[in-house]
Amino acid sequence: MIDLRSDTVTHPTPAMREAMARAEVGDDVYREDPTVNHLEAMAAELLGKESALFVPSGTMGNLIGVLGHCQRGDEVIMGHLGHTFLFEGGGVSALGGVFVHTLPNQPDGTLRLDDILAAIRPPDVHHPITRLVVLENTHNRCGGVPLSVAYTRQVGDAIHARGLALHLDGARIFNAAVALGVTAKALAEPADTVTFCLSKGLCAPVGSVLCGSREFIERARRIRKQLGGGMRQAGILAAAGIVALETMIDRLAEDHRRARMLAEGLVRLPGISLPMGMPATNMVFISLDESLPIDAPAFAARLANYGVRVGVVGVRQFRLVTHYWIGDAEVAQTLEAFRAVLSALG
Ligand SMILES: *Cc1c(COP(=O)(O)O)cnc(C)c1O
Repeated sequence: MIDLRSDTVTHPTPAMREAMARAEVGDDVYREDPTVNHLEAMAAELLGKESALFVPSGTMGNLIGVLGHCQRGDEVIMGHLGHTFLFEGGGVSALGGVFVHTLPNQPDGTLRLDDILAAIRPPDVHHPITRLVVLENTHNRCGGVPLSVAYTRQVGDAIHARGLALHLDGARIFNAAVALGVTAKALAEPADTVTFCLSKGLCAPVGSVLCGSREFIERARRIRKQLGGGMRQAGILAAAGIVALETMIDRLAEDHRRARMLAEGLVRLPGISLPMGMPATNMVFISLDESLPIDAPAFAARLANYGVRVGVVGVRQFRLVTHYWIGDAEVAQTLEAFRAVLSALG
């Protein structure tokens, strides 16, 4: 099977499995797991923050990020197409009592600065207290687009001047860094806290890291325990994360190159278009023309007969995500499968 549904489907590499088997471990709730401690130190250094916390998922990283900044009844500003708004089970409200104020994501994944400033509530007993803004980089539902350092800094400066904090959902921040030719540290610099995933394009089996100030991460450690995310000999998992950070970042450029190859091949096929344009990172969003007598779920079922799995994200839309296990041959086979399904439609 050629699985393009997401980069979360990536299995650990042989080097990761070996590192996992050899990992030195201890009880991480006692802070005695040397491998977790090493991963957290590496992550803090890479993201330019004082401290870091290994968490089971990106969802938990974002949840702890929001709960660490906000009290019950406080308000967080985020995009209406953001992962935290769409795909995290409403956790910030369900578990934190945090009030969500969504703003329209622009096609480039940003929130307009004017919209953000207008959304910040003046002090008044009628209003919730606006505490936090969440940005996402790369922006998943806007096509995997990277947000620039300049934009992130502009938002950071403007909201810090008004006493708000910035949390960056950097699930794929290394894709953004590689695509823009900047460091993840530069992208994260304007943010008070940042979460990134080890378990996506970086191929580790499990885990994300939340980075921030020493004081914030101390608070985050307590919240992680409250949520049941305190793990014990987690060094087994962290070992794969260390291999991910050491060896899997620079190669993300190959995923981006293959996403472009895929997009260029697909857009040449009759009835297929790229609603979000050419991919900047590892995600290709495609639309099926209304003239085709088939919808996305049925089309995906036929592709599966050719050994290709794609993500259905709308009645006539797919998302295809390239990753470590998708080579040039898999891109060619995928294009062949699309051609076969289209020609069978007559
Ligand atoms: C995948 C993802 C997350 C977190 O996902 P988990 O599956 O919980 O690790 C958060 N934000 C974005 C933008 C993502 O794509």
